[in-house]
Amino acid sequence: MKEKSDSYIVLARKWRPQTFEDVVGQETAKRQLQNALKEGRIANAYLFAGPRGVGKTSIARILAKALNCADGITPNPCNKCAQCVSITQGNSMDVTEIDGASYTGIDDIRDLQEGINRAPFSARKKVYIIDEVHMLSRPAFNALLKTLEEPPPFVVFIFATTELEKIPETIKSRCQMFLFERITAKDIHDRLSLILSREKGVKVSPEEKEAILEAIASSAEGGLRDAEVTLDQLISLSGGQIKFEYVSQLLGLVELDLLIGTVNDLARRDIRSLLERISQLVNKGRDLERFVKTMLAFLRDLMILKAGAELESTAYSAERFKEINNLLDGIALPFLLNAMNTFFLLEERIKTVPQARFLIEFAFIKLCAIQTDVDIETILSRIKKMDKGIPAPAPRQDYNQPAAYYDASPLPLQKAHAADLFNGNANNQPSPKTVQWSIEQIEALQDQTQLINRLIELILQKKPILAATLERAAFRMDNNNLLTISVPEQVLVDIIVKGDTLKLMEQMFSKLSGKPGRIKIELQPPESSPSDLISKPAEPAAGDSPSAANQNNAEKENCEYPSTEDTDYLPTPSDDADELAPIHHFDESQYKRLFKDTNYPKKKILELLSQNPDIKSAVDVIKKTLGAKLTHYDDMKIT
Ligand SMILES: [Zn+2]
Repeated sequence: MKEKSDSYIVLARKWRPQTFEDVVGQETAKRQLQNALKEGRIANAYLFAGPRGVGKTSIARILAKALNCADGITPNPCNKCAQCVSITQGNSMDVTEIDGASYTGIDDIRDLQEGINRAPFSARKKVYIIDEVHMLSRPAFNALLKTLEEPPPFVVFIFATTELEKIPETIKSRCQMFLFERITAKDIHDRLSLILSREKGVKVSPEEKEAILEAIASSAEGGLRDAEVTLDQLISLSGGQIKFEYVSQLLGLVELDLLIGTVNDLARRDIRSLLERISQLVNKGRDLERFVKTMLAFLRDLMILKAGAELESTAYSAERFKEINNLLDGIALPFLLNAMNTFFLLEERIKTVPQARFLIEFAFIKLCAIQTDVDIETILSRIKKMDKGIPAPAPRQDYNQPAAYYDASPLPLQKAHAADLFNGNANNQPSPKTVQWSIEQIEALQDQTQLINRLIELILQKKPILAATLERAAFRMDNNNLLTISVPEQVLVDIIVKGDTLKLMEQMFSKLSGKPGRIKIELQPPESSPSDLISKPAEPAAGDSPSAANQNNAEKENCEYPSTEDTDYLPTPSDDADELAPIHHFDESQYKRLFKDTNYPKKKILELLSQNPDIKSAVDVIKKTLGAKLTHYDDMKIT
């Protein structure tokens, strides 16, 4: 690694432009400076503002030579005289380069003040090049301002900054300002091509050359220095034989680190780290719109993998794949869906506003603030703990937990306070206030839709943990005041019927409907969507969806969850379902995942399933009998 970093510094220096003509891009700045030099108009202070790596310090050094060349003040310094050579080599007594970020001590400032007033040692002008001038400490800035008010005639300041908005107006108004632009991909491409042709001992196959240069040029996003550094790393990595595979390796590494890190921060709700990342992107002059697009593509990959499918083509190495899988372990699908949704909106809006940075910061904070702990795995482990008599931790208190997302906007879920998270109070959040009201206070509602919405609202106030479950549920009321709640997965049935939840729900429901009511929890019939069912006056439960009618009766019987009339109800198979017990735990989505690769009749598969004591042995038999490819079997959780 050491060797690499040394060699790229060498290359970047080696190809540093020595004349205005040599500098890639920045035509306006170059022309204006050269014209002024030709006419002998010299300012006391220049301010170069623009993204990093686009030529600000290169032009500053050339300007220093132009002011001090033995040929006189000239737009074309000779690069041969003692002044030019010493400036190029960085050992001129009269040209001082200062890094604003590290120039903060009291001594530094005193030295600067004293030095400024001393006449030049041998040059015509004493030149101070202050890079990243916005990073100077306040005392340093004040000292600078004083000298700028009455500068000695032999001093010229050249300030460079990537963050113009951080430069006080008092400084700006005393400087001649030049705005530096990003360099076009074509210009970068041409420059790299020139460097390659001059670098002896570096080979690149003519077929791949264009693709390689284009990839580097577009990834540099307007920063020539970054592109040169990449080219140099590439030369080291490939041992002088550049191949395209090294390019994708090199460019992919940096990018993927950023993407994985960002998603990880979002899942951990680490707002501090997220804001730091944005700040770094801005400092590096990264194109934020492109960042949003890349994030979107990455989230899509994660979503597909999380859903249990495979990527059509993958650019990830085996090692990276492992990292991505680790990342996926800590996040839930709803979180990814919401993140994608946010980034879609971001992609749309970022084109229309000048403050891309604020928009991304806002989106990140919002994503962190509205996540909630409703990941199914977490809930399951809580239920298991409850079974063992260990009190489950209250949801929504631990903001460091990886969390799933639930968009509770129409529902009165307590939202985390973004400002508190921002101020680092995330860990000592007060526990969400329990909403104080009693069942007696609930008023009856006539309209069914209103009634059900109100019921959901009330349930979530008492049991916010049910948010994700109810979000995926369908509700149906019949004339006998029976409310059927269908949920798509067995585990969600289990969650609702555990503990006092169902009883509480029935009490609320009875109050809301103004008469005694009952609630039945069932597994959603396959291929029916919640929107078909909400508030629809009910027919007898299982016949609702047309597809359900086509199904094997045995399956239908077993997908239907027993009603909860028995107060001591627990989710165990009923007596007459005994012989078909295995299918109980086998819902439609699992079925599809398991048998997506086989076109063997569903009826036959279910029959085989029912003849076996549990799914695992059933699946083994099916594998043997049908030779079915059960690709997703191993990662399935079978209860
Ligand atoms: Zn010269």
